[in-house]
Amino acid sequence: MSETYISLDLETTGVKPENDEIIEVAAVKFQDAKVIDTFHTLVNPHVPLSHQIQELTGIRQADVDYAPPFTAIAGQLASFIAGHSLVGQRISFDVDFLSHNGIKLFTPAYDTFELAIIFLPQLSDYSLAGLAQKLAVPPFRWHRALPDALATKDVFLALLKQARELPLSVIAEMVALTLGREWSLGRLLLDIQEEKLRDLSSPVEGRAASEETDSDFLSRGQMPDEPLVPHREKRVLDINELTAFFQPQGPLACSLAGFEYRPQQIRMMQAVAEALNSGQHLLAEAGTGTGKSIAYLLPAIFYALQNSDHVVVSTNTINLQEQLITKDISDLLQALPLEPMSNDVHLRAVQVKGRRNYLCLRRHAAFRRSEGLSLDEVKLLLRLLVWLRSTTSGDKAELYFSGAEEVVWNRVCAQVDNCLAGQCSYHKRDACFLFRARRRAAGAHIIVVNHALLLSDMASNNRVLPEYKYLVIDEAHHLEEEATQQLGFKLTRDDIIDYLNRLSEPVGGQRETGFLPVFRNWLRGSPGEIGVAPAMQGPLLSTAAELSDKVKAVRTHLSRFFDVLSGFLYHHSEEQGDYERRLRLTRGVRSQPAWSEVEIAAEDLRLTLADIDSGLSKLQSRLEGPDSSGAGISGYDDLMQELAYLRHSNVELCRQIDSAVSNPKGDTIYWATGGQGSPSTLYAAPLTVSQLLDQGLFSTKDSIILTSATLSTEGTFEFIKERLGLAYVNELLVDAPFDYLRSTMIYIPQDIPEPDRPGYQQAVESALIKLCSATKGRTLVLFTSHAALRATHAPLRGPLQVEGINVLAQGIDGSPKQLLTSFRTSSKAVLLGTSSFWEGVDVVGEALSVLVIVRLPFSVPTDPIFAARSEMFEDPFNQYALPQAALRFKQGFGRLIRSKTDRGALVVLDSRIRSKPYGVAFVDSLPLCAMRFGSSQDMPQEVAAWLAAER
Ligand code: SF4
Repeated sequence: MSETYISLDLETTGVKPENDEIIEVAAVKFQDAKVIDTFHTLVNPHVPLSHQIQELTGIRQADVDYAPPFTAIAGQLASFIAGHSLVGQRISFDVDFLSHNGIKLFTPAYDTFELAIIFLPQLSDYSLAGLAQKLAVPPFRWHRALPDALATKDVFLALLKQARELPLSVIAEMVALTLGREWSLGRLLLDIQEEKLRDLSSPVEGRAASEETDSDFLSRGQMPDEPLVPHREKRVLDINELTAFFQPQGPLACSLAGFEYRPQQIRMMQAVAEALNSGQHLLAEAGTGTGKSIAYLLPAIFYALQNSDHVVVSTNTINLQEQLITKDISDLLQALPLEPMSNDVHLRAVQVKGRRNYLCLRRHAAFRRSEGLSLDEVKLLLRLLVWLRSTTSGDKAELYFSGAEEVVWNRVCAQVDNCLAGQCSYHKRDACFLFRARRRAAGAHIIVVNHALLLSDMASNNRVLPEYKYLVIDEAHHLEEEATQQLGFKLTRDDIIDYLNRLSEPVGGQRETGFLPVFRNWLRGSPGEIGVAPAMQGPLLSTAAELSDKVKAVRTHLSRFFDVLSGFLYHHSEEQGDYERRLRLTRGVRSQPAWSEVEIAAEDLRLTLADIDSGLSKLQSRLEGPDSSGAGISGYDDLMQELAYLRHSNVELCRQIDSAVSNPKGDTIYWATGGQGSPSTLYAAPLTVSQLLDQGLFSTKDSIILTSATLSTEGTFEFIKERLGLAYVNELLVDAPFDYLRSTMIYIPQDIPEPDRPGYQQAVESALIKLCSATKGRTLVLFTSHAALRATHAPLRGPLQVEGINVLAQGIDGSPKQLLTSFRTSSKAVLLGTSSFWEGVDVVGEALSVLVIVRLPFSVPTDPIFAARSEMFEDPFNQYALPQAALRFKQGFGRLIRSKTDRGALVVLDSRIRSKPYGVAFVDSLPLCAMRFGSSQDMPQEVAAWLAAER
């Protein structure tokens, strides 16, 4: 007979059992699909319900005021549940609340979220509503306990069905991985395995269960196309023909929803086409709403197709890459009369990612066989087992990842130094995901990448992408920052620990994992296989034993080095906020007496690490030498590859330690960070990237188009050209197709003290409360630091909530994606953001009607990169700090007006924009808008009146 389960759901006043209260309980007792009994009640929490909770659940204060307290229903609930397994979405949340309220449960608990990420590994939405939609569970009123519990029951049953449909071999491997672990899922898997074994004994089921082999499903998916062979004679674009596509009655207008005739878009398309035709570079700033993606994609597509050549398109954000592939390119394909090439080749567009995004089947196979796996490792392996049966890309973007699983992924992803390439059996069978992606790129006209991959291809002399000559860099204002990051390094204690763990990691008792135990086992040979000849084993085993000792020695020196570095950091730097310390390692800092201790500790660490390399080198030469008998033994190639990887990583770690501490390079910036709870980290970045970009991109490609909505400052491109080292480049500046003078007001209150002066923070808080009340939310507030955001968030929340306005804060109230969804859909909300929100917010319509810039976005003067680069200028403020801040200001402003029908107000709470001579540079960086100067008292009404005026 089937098991009886309880599906449980609680509604609460918040997410912390120690601070928050239960307001509703529902439990549904079921067997198979049949509901046997239900338990449901509201609960009086004896605290006021926040506006947010009332809005989320629909439960009003009056609903709970006369409900029983939890103590009155606890006994009844405990007896209802007793003896049955629990089911719930994120069930540990409910179990923790019950435990905190006196109901301790010891029955197995199954989390539908956890089951779903294993058995449905490719979903984008694992919320209860998302699962219900995927599994065809009828819609309920979400965030009420009883409907949620009923839906969870149906989702659970549907997930069990998914699990039962997996082949017996997969279930058996899952059972083996979970056996003996304190994890309820293991029991469930065991039950499914037994069921399947019973079914196998039936002749009908037994036939159905004939199983697909690894080779069957790994060779799935479309085989990559043949590589493109560029035509020797270039065929130029017919710009008139392309222009006709954009006319009011043209194919784009007839085919693309919402397409508008925009002269600015046509001008940009023509400039891109001219640059491709003439083999020149182009800097093109196109304001918001120009439609710049289509303006560069259309000529790029035609150029690539008619010349059988690649055009690489690089963007900074995943969102834009996905939009290009899934929307813009596919829209254009529908709309355009694209003739196939003579040999019937149609346009091919692919997205290529860095190799770590792809699963390495060889490493995955080895990992499945490892001993001493942690629970996080097992959880990811279970998901990979299911995912491998459906993925054709092996791209991790298809999977949901928690932070811990990201670390585990590093053990199974493709890696540059650990790839057997042509020697790999998966590669030979055309099953390797990475090489399939590379081959698809070689046959593609449009190759979409991100800046990080573009730059790593540049740094590796074009070993990642097929050879290409035409490049579009969108979001080009990020190029300098991304190059700075990609062409430098970051060294943490964990990096070195990870390296040591790859050699040997104790996992309890006498057990260890890593290269050394695998190597020892290999020497002896596994049962049924021959190992290395006994006479050869002795010297190899003794080198392996020496290596084990050396790993222990490095662990000691590692701790010493990072302790000494932390001590130095503590005594020679100041807290930057968030308890973090940061210190640029200048010549002056290195001349401090205490620095010699850091150098000694670093040298000890480096030498012991180098000692490991000598041991590895000894192993390598013995195994490769003429008297080695290992070459014919299975697993030899894998071991030699791992050895090469370990040696390469060792050299790289030693180089980084040496350069950051003892032998700094004059063209590199070095710094260290650390603080309470965050271990010390060493960083290096190039002092300038212009020469590197010139050598790697600008002087080697025929045509590069750099575009963004924010490239110019005060009407010229001089700043960006100087930063990127762009000497010969065409320029185009097209305004946004919006009438800012009619739609946008800039209000600057003049009575707010300058930042950091007494009274500034209070004035900001008071102005924001009055402004957001008058505009009924609909406001995005941009800060320049998380510390400033947090300081303002608390004083704002209470008064605005009383007005029914939801205050959402980055880093406090959810992920950026969740915050943006809430902000868009909430009738009255204020969104407080920093960092990515200066450019990552695209909210069309009234939900974002007011933009507040709390402080002019100057870089922090102590930022090591900013400080080092400033020293290169005669007038660092005007030549570097000011244009950089003005560009950022313009990016922030770009959040406000997103369509022709938007109307909005920008409020700047930094009075320096008016009081300082440099303030004009910020105003001049924006399009012409209606300007108002007044008092903070009058501001709320003036802004509200502007928004209410006729559109
Ligand atoms: S070719 Fe390289 S990345 Fe691909 S499966 Fe083999 S080792 Fe892994």
